[in-house]
Amino acid sequence: MTDLLDQLVAMSRAVGDPQLDAAILGEGNTSALEEDGSFWIKASGTSLGTMTRAQFVHLQREQVLGLLDEEGVDEARLNAVYQAAKCDPGQSARPSVETVFHALLLGYPGVRFIAHTHPTAVNALTCSLGWPQVLEGRLCPDECVVLGPDSVFIPYIDPGVILARAIRDGVDAYARRHGAAPKVIYMQNHGLVALGRSDRECVNITHMAIKAARLRLGALAAGGLKPLSETVISGLLGRPDEQYRQRLLDGR
Ligand SMILES: [Zn+2]
Repeated sequence: MTDLLDQLVAMSRAVGDPQLDAAILGEGNTSALEEDGSFWIKASGTSLGTMTRAQFVHLQREQVLGLLDEEGVDEARLNAVYQAAKCDPGQSARPSVETVFHALLLGYPGVRFIAHTHPTAVNALTCSLGWPQVLEGRLCPDECVVLGPDSVFIPYIDPGVILARAIRDGVDAYARRHGAAPKVIYMQNHGLVALGRSDRECVNITHMAIKAARLRLGALAAGGLKPLSETVISGLLGRPDEQYRQRLLDGR
């Protein structure tokens, strides 16, 4: 039987596949939530494309979450909290520098897997003068169905607790607007976060965000972006046939 950690390994290798050009070297990180509230996170210094079960750190989510509301968290404090949060205190690997935002995002309803990558096509836009407008709206029905009605945009902040706090504000504002967690977060000069119910959904979101970025780069070169209207977007998202297709694609 495939367990959650096997699914996380498979998802990590899929988004770390060199052909996708979403992460090289130690870029990006992934996580998954267990039924008991603990979670698995990629260890620091490992590569997405070659992940193994032993390269994930198993942490208690509640302990990591406490960092979100703590002021002046330094390196020593971060390490102490991570060590105390380890489900197996004997595990020596250090969790990813982006662990706090994973712990946060895995707490939103319907979010079980997170895939964070730095795709070249997406970052061509997050690093552009046109940020964030060049990533706003939806250009075609599939972008809308896979990535949801809208995205969350986070201004540049160094990885760590302060970035996780900005992500919390952005996702909470999105949830108030749309009544659900977002599918995709874009971080300025940094990358992409996919939030999924399943490992396959995170892979699908990552693929679609990369395709959408390429489409946007092409449209910008051809004179500019012409997004779908809000009426078309809400019509597409309300269609039972699109919802059915989506559930099949996500393996639900
Ligand atoms: Zn990153």
